[in-house]
Amino acid sequence: MSDRVVIVTGGSRGIGAATAMLAAERGYGVVVNYTANVAAAEAVCARIHATGGVAVAVRGDVSSEADIDHIFAAADRMGTLAGLVNNAGVVDLAARVEDFDAARLTRMFAINTLGTILCSGRAVKRMSTKHGGKGGGIVNVTSAAAKLGAPGNYVDYAAAKGAVDSFTVGLALEVAGEGIRVNGVRPGIIDTEIHASGGIPGRAAEMAPSVPIPRAGTAEEVARAILWLLSDEASYTTGSVINVTGGRGIAP
Ligand code: NAP
Repeated sequence: MSDRVVIVTGGSRGIGAATAMLAAERGYGVVVNYTANVAAAEAVCARIHATGGVAVAVRGDVSSEADIDHIFAAADRMGTLAGLVNNAGVVDLAARVEDFDAARLTRMFAINTLGTILCSGRAVKRMSTKHGGKGGGIVNVTSAAAKLGAPGNYVDYAAAKGAVDSFTVGLALEVAGEGIRVNGVRPGIIDTEIHASGGIPGRAAEMAPSVPIPRAGTAEEVARAILWLLSDEASYTTGSVINVTGGRGIAP
C-alpha cells in the first residue's frame, strides 16, 4: 500500500510516461493509465519497478465512465490517492471547421474535456477534506492551442483545451478550502507521437525554429512542471496554468 498514489491518465507514452516515471522517482505509487498500447504502459511500469518504484498499468478510456471507475478502483487498491494528472489527450487530422462532423467533435470533447472533468470529480470524492479525504493535487494538461486557436489545424482541439483552462479555474476555486489544489500545464510544441497521430509526424521539428526558445520541448520538461505543481513546493499555487512553451503563445 502507498500513502501517496497518483493517477496519470495517458501515462503510457509521451508527456504522461515522463510524468509517471518522475512521479515514481519522487515517491508516488503510480497508476499508469493507457487505452490501447499495453506494451508501452507495461514498459513504463517495468522502468519504474527496476528502480524500486511502485506502479501498475491500468487500461481505461477516459471518455467512458465505467472505465474511469475501473482506473480509480485500481488506485484505491494501491493506497491513498494524493494526485491526479489529467494528461490523456488526442488531436485529429488537420481540417477546417466547415469539414468537422459530429463524430469528430464528440471524440475530441469526450476525451480532452469530459474525461478531465469526470476524472477530477472522482478524485475530489477521494481527496476532499469535505468527504473525509486528506487533500491532494490535480494537474490538467491543456495546450498552447487553447490560446492560439490552432486555425486550419484543429480549432476543435483548441476549444476543448480552452474549456479545460476554464475548468481548472472553476474547480480550483470550488475546492480551495478542501485541501485540494487544481492547476494546469499548457505545453507548446513537445516532441512526442501526438503529432504523428494528427497526420504530421514531422511537426515538432518543422515548428521548432519558430519557437522563441528555438527548439521543441521534451516530455520531461513538461513533467517537471507537473510534478512541481503536485508538490508541497507549490503549496500556495492553485488555479494557475503554467505555459511550458519555450515562449510560444504567451504574448496577449
Ligand atoms: P501522445 O504521445 O500521443 O500520448 C497520448 C497518451 O494518451 C497515450 O498514453 C495514450 O494511450 C493516451 N490516451 C489517448 N486517448 C486516451 C483515452 N481515451 N483514454 C486514456 N488514455 C488515452 O500525447 P502527448 O503529446 O504526450 O500528449 C499528452 C497531453 O499533452 C495531451 O493532453 C495533449 O493534448 C497535451 N499536449 C501535447 C502537446 C505536444 O506537442 N505533444 C502540446 C500541447 C498539449 P495509448 O498509449 O494506449 O494510446
